[in-house]
Amino acid sequence: MKRLFGTSGVRGVVGEEITPELFIELGLALATHLGNSGTVIVGRDPRLSGEMLEDSLVSGILSGGCEVRRAGMVPTPVLAFAVRLLGANAGAMITASHNPPEYNGVKFWDSEGVAFAPAVEKEIERIFYEKSGKRVGWQKLGRVGNVDASSGYLKMVTEGIKLSKSYKVVVDCGNGAASPLTPVLLRRIGCKVVSLNCQPDGNFPGRGLEPNEGNLKELSEIVSATGADIGIAHDGDADRAAAVDEKGNFANEDKLLAAVASRNVRKGDIVVTTVESSKVVYDAVGKKGGKVVKTPVGDVSVAEAVKKNSAVFGGEPSGAWIFPEVHLAPDGPLSAIRILQLLDSSSKKLSEILGALPDYPTIRKKMACPNEKKSETMRKIGKELRAEFKGAEILEIDGVRLDLDEGWVLVRPSGTEPYIRITAEGKTEKTAKELVERASEILNKTI
Ligand code: MG
Repeated sequence: MKRLFGTSGVRGVVGEEITPELFIELGLALATHLGNSGTVIVGRDPRLSGEMLEDSLVSGILSGGCEVRRAGMVPTPVLAFAVRLLGANAGAMITASHNPPEYNGVKFWDSEGVAFAPAVEKEIERIFYEKSGKRVGWQKLGRVGNVDASSGYLKMVTEGIKLSKSYKVVVDCGNGAASPLTPVLLRRIGCKVVSLNCQPDGNFPGRGLEPNEGNLKELSEIVSATGADIGIAHDGDADRAAAVDEKGNFANEDKLLAAVASRNVRKGDIVVTTVESSKVVYDAVGKKGGKVVKTPVGDVSVAEAVKKNSAVFGGEPSGAWIFPEVHLAPDGPLSAIRILQLLDSSSKKLSEILGALPDYPTIRKKMACPNEKKSETMRKIGKELRAEFKGAEILEIDGVRLDLDEGWVLVRPSGTEPYIRITAEGKTEKTAKELVERASEILNKTI
């Protein structure tokens, strides 16, 4: 069966993979999965196709007999939070996260505000492909209302947060879904806020939506120029956060993850992260007596493992972080609060906190491999890699990760592109290079 769902919901280019017709059918499949009753909260990011797709999805849901509450334009974590807070049966967030403006998609949430597990996504796919969506009679069609999802969220996440001083924060929302929310949230906890790209705009004129170093140059400059304590940025739907330190330097994602993850870890606590994470995370968590559980890449896998292991934190180096004491959705605005709490509790500047963590050089390489050959190649290569890296600890939950004393190497097929990626991290640059070379030689032979 063809897959509709990727690592983070259904996603594609509008007018190609993503059409109003598809969204009507997805809405009906969701309502059918819910047993043709209950309430679904629907939200969207500011993409130009958002309103069109929302109307289609809502129409499909209503035809399946479920009620709809429209949350309008909200960040993904606000939508997920509202599902649980308001006792709804599911949530649907229309977004393509950090993808360019021509993309859109949808991600579904269960009644606890957790992203649909892969098994549930498969069930929706089955209904969709078998065309077994069940429409209800005219007397039983669902009704629509609106809901204010942001107020309850803002109240809940800012309650009881007291910082020892007023931090100056530059916030760059990239014209995305958190534009009206994160500046308000930070002011509520006493910060002085300078807003950048905080007008929602589906053309995303301010910058690329991926909150990486290249896209955050302007944020870096403004942090330095205004003498701010920190810069915070989100991706398009604000389930992720990235930071810039007080000197205007982009904060290394693995180190930031390590610092935030370990802040509240006590002996025996579990932290969840993906197979792509750096040793710096394991070191920081281990130092506090905590344990790290690894998952496949993708926030859906991380959320599942956080729940299963009762973890105190779950996160990916991309900046999608889960704080289970509040909820199980990756949450960019809440991450901003936690980063400020990290500064406040350590009484140090961000550059000092991150500077105290070790540097582990990482090298990445991608090798072309046609999509249809990926699984066969990965099967063959597992054996070869085991032979090459004798004595390594092997993990095969998502590609093959081999952990050695001097570093680790991960060989993993790209989820969306015709590549197999090699990532290696070593205690030195030389080791990282060697690990990549050894793995790519084997891959070369196999492809
Ligand atoms: Mg996102």
